[in-house]
Amino acid sequence: MYRSTISHLQCVQCGKSYAPGETNWCPDCGLDEGILDVIFDIDRVRKTLTRPVLAQRPRNHWRYEELLPIGEGLPLVPRDIGWTPMIEAPRLAKALGVRRLHLKDDSRGASASFKDRASAVGVSLALASGADQIACASTGNAASSLAHCAAAAGIPCNIFVSARIPDGKLAQLLAYGARVFRVQGTYDEAWRLCMDACEEFGWYNRNAAVNPWLVEGKKTGGMEIAEQLMDDPPDWVSASVGDGCSIAGIEKGIRQMREIGIITWECRMLGVQAEGVAPIAAAFDSGSLDRSGGGDTYADSINCPVPRNWRKAVNAVRTSGGVYTTVNDGEILEAVRRTGHHSGVFAEPAAAAAIAGIARARADGVIGPKDHVVAVISGNGLKDVAGAMRAVGGPVDVPPNLDAVQKEVRKDNRP
Ligand SMILES: *Cc1c(COP(=O)(O)O)cnc(C)c1O
Repeated sequence: MYRSTISHLQCVQCGKSYAPGETNWCPDCGLDEGILDVIFDIDRVRKTLTRPVLAQRPRNHWRYEELLPIGEGLPLVPRDIGWTPMIEAPRLAKALGVRRLHLKDDSRGASASFKDRASAVGVSLALASGADQIACASTGNAASSLAHCAAAAGIPCNIFVSARIPDGKLAQLLAYGARVFRVQGTYDEAWRLCMDACEEFGWYNRNAAVNPWLVEGKKTGGMEIAEQLMDDPPDWVSASVGDGCSIAGIEKGIRQMREIGIITWECRMLGVQAEGVAPIAAAFDSGSLDRSGGGDTYADSINCPVPRNWRKAVNAVRTSGGVYTTVNDGEILEAVRRTGHHSGVFAEPAAAAAIAGIARARADGVIGPKDHVVAVISGNGLKDVAGAMRAVGGPVDVPPNLDAVQKEVRKDNRP
């Protein structure tokens, strides 16, 4: 059942080790703090995961299977996950004041977000465990990616959402055929209800926060950054942070690619949170999480007032020598517009936050003018059209005649 390259699980709080399958969280530290990290036998991995071997493998995220938690010979589904484009964006780089900028564009992933990487691992694990249904609670992208992967693999899917979910994401869930429970309550209540339902009905639980294996799927974003920029190292990788799994996965992926000898370089992580909901940025400075919650942001996918993976997210940025920064909703709106105008990539607000963070870090002198930066574009703007419309302005209304168009063109009112 467990891959032979996995050594053990380790509690990020107390450091205690557990055998694979023994538990999903550290019983000594409890469900809230006892998050487990999967430790691999790197010497074993580096024997088979080499540059020549990678060159032969299919261009999807299963190409790193030795570093993913699916046992040998078990199903690796669906196949359409990962290997998203790495796009150089010189005009956006100029607008942000950095030497070079690459966009790791997961908005073009199978369900149009970075979450596909974890959901694919979730569905493969569910099939391997013999579960007949899968479930998750989510503000949006974890759910739509799970619904996509479940539909592609042919396993029924149950989703618990809060009433705030944007229409685009809700439409995706329903189109993929998931059963959607819209919970009249907070996100936290939806999350607890999903936990209880999984217990009651024996569904496989894709909630990344209580499933240590899923974060390993998010590593592939970092591994692809490492492989795609193998001989062209970046100085910084900027990623927006909600619960904290994504940035922890990206950092771990890049680090493991270095440990197995695919790359030799290191780079720093820039963790970006929304000013209104920034508990991880605060914990990076204070060393502990303020669990009082509250606050708000326009970037719904990173609106996570009590993040469960905060310690992993703090450790990842610290290990890389990086920092956290916060951006306000105005800066995020501006970044949606700038990213679209200067690179042709339509980012959802939470994804554009990674761009806003670069502008802020540049203004603060954290990122320098000579730096080469990667921004993770974690979700597609089409998922929340109403949100996007707040950022991008309106069309020019004209009657159907050329005079009216000429009048507008003469005004040259392009932003
Ligand atoms: C989930 C999400 C994030 C943040 O990932 P976490 O693991 O919650 O920190 C960022 N951007 C988008 C679009 C997301 O869906």
